[in-house]
Amino acid sequence: MNVERLKTDILILGSGGAGLFAALHAHKANPDLDITVASKGLLGKCGCTRMVQGGYNVALNPGDSIERHFMDTIEGGKWLPHQELAWTLVSTAVERVRELENEIGCFFDRNPDGTLHGKAFAGQTFDRTVHKGDLTGIEIINRLMEQVWARPIRRLEEHRAVALIPATDGALSGVLMIDVRSGEFRFVAAQAVLLATGGGPTMYRYHTPSGDKSMDGLAMALRLGLPLRDMEMVQFHPTGLLAGPDTRMTGTVLEEGLRGAGGHLLNGAMHRFMGDYDPKLERATRDVVSRAIYAEMRAERTTPNGGVYIKMGHLGPANVAKQFKGMVDRCRDCGFDLAGGLVEVVPTAHYFMGGVVCGVDASTERFGLFVAGEDASGMHGANRLGGNGVANSTVFGGIAGDVMPSFIAKNPGHRPPDTAVLDAEVERALHPFSRKPGDLNRLREKLLDTMWDEVGVVRDRASIARGLAGIDAIEAELLATGLADTGRRFNLTWHDWLNLRSLCEVSRVIALAALRRENSRGAHYRSDFPEPGELATSTFTVARHISGRIEMTERPVVFSHVKPGQTLLRDAIAAE
Ligand SMILES: Cc1cc2nc3c(=O)[nH]c(=O)nc-3n(C[C@H](O)[C@H](O)[C@H](O)COP(=O)(O)OP(=O)(O)OC[C@H]3O[C@@H](n4cnc5c(N)ncnc54)[C@H](O)[C@@H]3O)c2cc1C
Repeated sequence: MNVERLKTDILILGSGGAGLFAALHAHKANPDLDITVASKGLLGKCGCTRMVQGGYNVALNPGDSIERHFMDTIEGGKWLPHQELAWTLVSTAVERVRELENEIGCFFDRNPDGTLHGKAFAGQTFDRTVHKGDLTGIEIINRLMEQVWARPIRRLEEHRAVALIPATDGALSGVLMIDVRSGEFRFVAAQAVLLATGGGPTMYRYHTPSGDKSMDGLAMALRLGLPLRDMEMVQFHPTGLLAGPDTRMTGTVLEEGLRGAGGHLLNGAMHRFMGDYDPKLERATRDVVSRAIYAEMRAERTTPNGGVYIKMGHLGPANVAKQFKGMVDRCRDCGFDLAGGLVEVVPTAHYFMGGVVCGVDASTERFGLFVAGEDASGMHGANRLGGNGVANSTVFGGIAGDVMPSFIAKNPGHRPPDTAVLDAEVERALHPFSRKPGDLNRLREKLLDTMWDEVGVVRDRASIARGLAGIDAIEAELLATGLADTGRRFNLTWHDWLNLRSLCEVSRVIALAALRRENSRGAHYRSDFPEPGELATSTFTVARHISGRIEMTERPVVFSHVKPGQTLLRDAIAAE
């Protein structure tokens, strides 16, 4: 098989907030380096950063502080976050948001005095979510895209990474890609590679992320033998739109600010049920609200399509239409009146807290490989606060862009690929062309149901075991299933097949990590182990692919800034 060879100094996989920030910072750090951004979709049009609705968490305004943002992140993450990473996130977000406005050209909503407006997001003790109406991601990604286009940064659009290829000395050599348009293979050799493919738990019946996301980055990292952390932690957003069974709009998110602003959740009997579960009512964290809705669903106190209602009308329909224009328009497009009526919602898989183990400098265990954004792990622990996702990708994308040029300066040169691995990965990607065609959509539907039913909002030992058996069976069937179209040029069924394979591989790790954690923290709820366990002896899970099997271990959380029971907030300490 012919594999075209390309060479670049820095290869960035993904053109979301992490990838584009990395490209801009790397170019600024050393304009002489050849930088290439490769993405599965079109630059600026793919990934989830563009889909960000609510906004960007940053401690800017009087009364807030980095310490307060940090404590919210740690407590929201149920004391599982890597504290150095969380601290880097909240402290660097301040300079990153200034950079977004003053250098990248974003313009966020303002208070009458000219300061940036912070909206209320659930689970936070301060209204610190900076935004552009309720379509913040479009503002961020459009401006980033313009800046990247204005620089001599190479673009490989509609290029799908299929494998991280090691060098003969064990470091990273480069990445095997498929040019989706031609179906040709390309090996891109690079001195440094950034993995920023953006996670995205699209293996659940209801999910929010963009269709190009299928956990490819984590599947590739797993095959390379990298450790993955917190893989049981799948965040369900409580309010996915329930638009009926035959539309891809079902599952898309109705943003957190709706609950933050005072929206009510009602069950099928029109009872405002959150008071039965948590004193913070609708402003409880996402995990709590998702579980409450799921409990109402299991008790069959549901709406016609099997979810619950969100109601905003009591806040004044005109006010809601003004404050949440994007959400109101989206609901109207699907035939629902969010401003004045009732809209059916359901918990929807939204964000993946798990990912590649990394350092504060975005480095990984593999020499030459860096990671940022939703592919990285540790910042959020058991629960990501709404607004900390895009902060995370822009903060660590920028850091990776700062670090990679100095890494190259210290370790110059391309490293030759291990050709045996390269050849094997090409064969692996071509696998479905040598099998008889079958029904891929049926297999996908099976996986969506298996993960939703058995390894979803609430799990237990028996359901996870059923989930694992289901994943094995689906993967076995997938490996026996081929493609009707045997051409490789823009063969989207081939890419659906590859998507499904990545999803099966990562689903198995989610299930194994969920089995391993015998307590309930944040997004991970085991009905057979409902207690959170001792906070002081908290551990996080680590999964690694070794000799054809997944090894699960647990490691103690290091409380480097604050221990359970303590706080960094001066006012709280003074009040004691
Ligand atoms: C509907 C929605 C609303 C959200 N709202 C908010 C919010 O209000 N606030 C907040 O903080 N967070 C929000 N998030 C989360 C936030 O969008 C993400 O955490 C963040 O944008 C991830 O950035 P990223 O750069 O890691 O990935 P992304 O922006 O998702 O980019 C991933 C990139 O990788 C590419 N890619 C994927 N696979 C491959 C492959 N195999 N080869 C090459 N390229 C590949 C994709 O095409 C894409 O370019 C929201 C998410 C969704 C889905």
